Amino acid sequence: MKTASRVLGTAFFLEGFEVQDAPRYGAERRGAPIFAYVRASRQAINERGIIQHPDLVVVADDSLVPIPAAGVLQGLDRHTVMLINSHDAPEVWTQRLNLDGPVLILPASEEVEDRAELPFVGTACAAAAARLLGVIGRDSLQQAIGAELGHLGPKLVAKNEKVALQAYDLLEHHTGTVTEGTEVRATQYQVPAWIETPFETVGRSAPSIHAAATSTQVKTGLWRTMRPIIDYSRCNRCWWVCSTFCPDGAISVSSDGKPLIDYDHCKGCLICVSKCPPHAIEAISEHAAQAAEAERA
Ligand code: SF4
Ligand code: SF4
Repeated sequence: MKTASRVLGTAFFLEGFEVQDAPRYGAERRGAPIFAYVRASRQAINERGIIQHPDLVVVADDSLVPIPAAGVLQGLDRHTVMLINSHDAPEVWTQRLNLDGPVLILPASEEVEDRAELPFVGTACAAAAARLLGVIGRDSLQQAIGAELGHLGPKLVAKNEKVALQAYDLLEHHTGTVTEGTEVRATQYQVPAWIETPFETVGRSAPSIHAAATSTQVKTGLWRTMRPIIDYSRCNRCWWVCSTFCPDGAISVSSDGKPLIDYDHCKGCLICVSKCPPHAIEAISEHAAQAAEAERA
């Protein structure tokens, strides 16, 4: 996503715009959301920081939309265009999210099962965004990809270009859907209003902070993209290995020495997979694991 913002920013620049692009990282863990912002203007940009009211939001991984911590819907209004990389139809997302603004779907590579694993999804998103903006031509897009990814070698640049141009062409009918905003003056900035909350006793207002052992209520396994599965026929019960290496303490040990993974809190870092001596822990995609569970149910 960081590279996608660089590609889009450079393409804007090549079209004569002033540009800012910047990534914002979340928690350092596999599957944690990452954001990147691009701000472009025909005049010098004096504003800094995150974009509070985006004209376009591109969601590369649709599993992040329902997670409040990912902040996908922050600052949206009825003018914001939302482009989601998803198998679901735009109407489904409009209804699901109760949105007033336009919702579009990135239709590239429909045959890919797990959209988050779509090869070169970053360049596809950057190219789709470029098309929706209507002010970035194919040449600038290609040049930007070459400039940002050139260090990876011609083969990878060519592959990225192919995916990007495919996404760019597929959204042809939506060229210019995102309209240019008007000038934003510093004097128009609205300071966030205070919200007065009534005083309550600590036990009532913040019970989960002041009570002991409540962090278990935060289900950190929600963002997992890969799931470790223990094959107990190969597991030799050297439980001190996997349970010690798990950084989240998500592997407990039963009284007979059997390691048990707590999937509510396993973040899918796969350290246990790499440390298990007899390779008894396999990693499978979370989507596949959930589909298998649903079938069993
Ligand atoms: S490290 Fe591997 S073999 Fe050892 S207890 Fe854990 S899962 Fe079993
Ligand atoms: S159980 Fe394995 S994959 Fe899950 S958090 Fe622990 S080490 Fe990481």
